[in-house]
Amino acid sequence: METYDSMLARISAAPGQGSRTILDPATGEPVGEAPVHTVDDLEHAIAAAAAAQPAWAALGHDARSAALLKAADAVERSAEELAQLLSREQGKPLNGPNARFEVGACAAWLRAAATTPLAPEMVVDDGETRAVLDYRPIGVVGAIGPWNWPMMITIWQIAPALRMGNAVVVKPSQNTPLSVLALAAVINDELPEGLLSVVSSGRDVGARLAEHPAIGKVMFTGSTAAGKSIIKSSAGTIKRLTLELGGNDAGIVLPDADPKAIAEGLFWGAFINTGQTCAALKRLYVHDDIYDGVCEELTKVAAAMPMGVGLDEANVLGPLQNRQQYDIVARLVEAARDSGARILLGGNPDPGQPGNFYPTTLVADIDNSNPLVAEEQFGPALPIIRYSTVDEAIRMANGVDVGLGASIWSPNLTAAREVAARLEAGTVWINTHGAVDPRIPFGGAKQSGYGLEFGVEGLKALGIPQVING
Ligand code: NAD
Repeated sequence: METYDSMLARISAAPGQGSRTILDPATGEPVGEAPVHTVDDLEHAIAAAAAAQPAWAALGHDARSAALLKAADAVERSAEELAQLLSREQGKPLNGPNARFEVGACAAWLRAAATTPLAPEMVVDDGETRAVLDYRPIGVVGAIGPWNWPMMITIWQIAPALRMGNAVVVKPSQNTPLSVLALAAVINDELPEGLLSVVSSGRDVGARLAEHPAIGKVMFTGSTAAGKSIIKSSAGTIKRLTLELGGNDAGIVLPDADPKAIAEGLFWGAFINTGQTCAALKRLYVHDDIYDGVCEELTKVAAAMPMGVGLDEANVLGPLQNRQQYDIVARLVEAARDSGARILLGGNPDPGQPGNFYPTTLVADIDNSNPLVAEEQFGPALPIIRYSTVDEAIRMANGVDVGLGASIWSPNLTAAREVAARLEAGTVWINTHGAVDPRIPFGGAKQSGYGLEFGVEGLKALGIPQVING
């Protein structure tokens, strides 16, 4: 049985290897020494992946699925050690919808990728023409990920890629490499050598991966700006791309909603992972009739949620993962305060507190054009905007150039679905926000990206469609 220390030892930089000290965002204490891989290391990883891939593809779906199910079991056996490392490196608490939840999701998504059926599809069979559509492996897939849900998003990228017969080279965020290295080490105990590797490095190595001629597809999750660079780097070899980019999700509370009944759902929709979630509720539009009630109930729920060091079992909210993100949140809240908006809760970080803690912040009576509304805050600060007609709310919700998720809050499901259909977003939830499910396709509209993950659509996105006609 592997201990936390032995897990950390097997992923840490070797003596003499380039390394970077990773600091706990809650305490500033060192978590471990991450290796810093070079472009040469990337070349070796891609060569090993290309060598391992044909035999893996030749195994077929059933044997590959069996290996992924074993990998899911392995993740569960190491779940507590993985959650501890994730909590220290990313900052998220063990409890609540955080570190233990994320590791559990890794096992769930591995199992879903392993068990989702994908049979060849008879497109035409009329006696004269016979055409069958199936999916061939792509080859070597590059997976580039962010620091907010580093383990879960890596699994979203690699599980369908492996199931479809590909090898994968992962480039995790330079902020959270240890979490991804540990996850891959656990999974690799169940996979052939070289098939899955992690190159722990920065943007330059990510950019090389995105342009490398031996990479057939890039799965990218991160900012819209980096997504645009990846489109350019990948153009030389016409790579396939799945892009899950930034969002600025709107939630619309209809006038018939019950503020008390929805307050906890609204809170977690916005503050899951301390707001560092791509598809979190980032702008809340509330009808005039119930505006004060929603502000009051949400403030009550938010004020009661403990924030602190992730390893303390009592906490459900943690620090921002890095100082840059803390500075973004602080700047946007100050812009809101300067405009005369009303701070209902938070907004005053304690300068003496170690770590990147920004308090849970709710901002009312804020203009729709304020930067805290118009920009993605990606942290624990929610603007609450007043509206008087549903058309006005829809216009404001659709008035940004991204569209990952959105939500409608009302007991009248028919009315809520009608409003949902008018929103420009890849997913619109009703009476919840951000709930992802491995059976249900997920992807963005507008500049939140393109391509779908999860479900059978997610598997198809990791194959090359081939029609056999005859
Ligand atoms: P980021 O774009 O700065 O970095 C993401 C990854 O891309 C990192 O591994 C980074 O090293 C790499 N990278 C950066 N520039 C690159 C380039 N030019 N070429 C190749 N690789 C490059 O994003 P971040 O700050 O880590 O994550 C936060 C952002 O990610 C937010 O905007 C958030 O909304 C978005 N996000 C989206 C989803 C989604 O599913 N749509 C999920 C999580 C996060």
